[in-house]
Amino acid sequence: MRKPIVAGNWKMNKSVGEAVELASGIKIDLADCVNVDVVLCPPFTALKAVGDVISGTVMKLGAQNMHWEKEGAYTGEVCAGMLRDLYCRYVILGHSERRAYFHEPDETINLKVKAAIVGAITPILCVGETLEEREGNKTEQVVSAQVRACLKDVGEGAASIVVAYEPVWAIGTGRTATPEQAQEVHALSRGLLADIFDKKTADSIRIQYGGSMKPGNAKELMSQPDIDGGLIGGAALDAGSFVEIVRAAFHNAASEGN
Ligand code: PEP
Repeated sequence: MRKPIVAGNWKMNKSVGEAVELASGIKIDLADCVNVDVVLCPPFTALKAVGDVISGTVMKLGAQNMHWEKEGAYTGEVCAGMLRDLYCRYVILGHSERRAYFHEPDETINLKVKAAIVGAITPILCVGETLEEREGNKTEQVVSAQVRACLKDVGEGAASIVVAYEPVWAIGTGRTATPEQAQEVHALSRGLLADIFDKKTADSIRIQYGGSMKPGNAKELMSQPDIDGGLIGGAALDAGSFVEIVRAAFHNAASEGN
């Protein structure tokens, strides 16, 4: 049975003080959610402060990006070792905003995934199609190509990877994939993972859904057989909403006997 994972992607939001306030609000409410992995991904500037707030709780810290090299002349970048220094356990890689605005190709996302694993940080690999691609019936082709390219030559450590299926047309738009639409792509992704690795590995990899997940739709989405939690943007900026989503994952997991 896979343990659900709910991660909040705070993007470029929150000063250090605001981040501490948000993390503190979540900390109080989540005391009993032990069968769900809960990850907070604040901006780099707030990692240390949020890490201090959640230290000793069930919550874990995640970053929103990293470079694949171990060190060097890469102005403005941070590496896995630096994130580990701050007790980061996860890193979001290949988010569609980074693909679209910073032109990140699958090839460098693949380098980052491998560097994260070597650096003992769990990658949350984001994949997903645009609206144009969905309407052109290219979802399967696009997601398959992304998964294969981003996981190329990943060997040991594959089972610990988290994949986030995030249809680009659902991110920050309020438009959510239906549970059936999401499940279809999740099942496809799990099949691909079995093909790339093996069935046992594919069955242990968590696949999150991301794209306007909120308290009102979280339970239904996460009750789909291949949806193992959520990557949450907008709703993660509100402690109450984020906690409700975690609780939905908690109740699903409890009813499935996790
Ligand atoms: C995201 O950016 O990863 C995301 C899922 O955002 P939102 O929940 O706001 O759609």
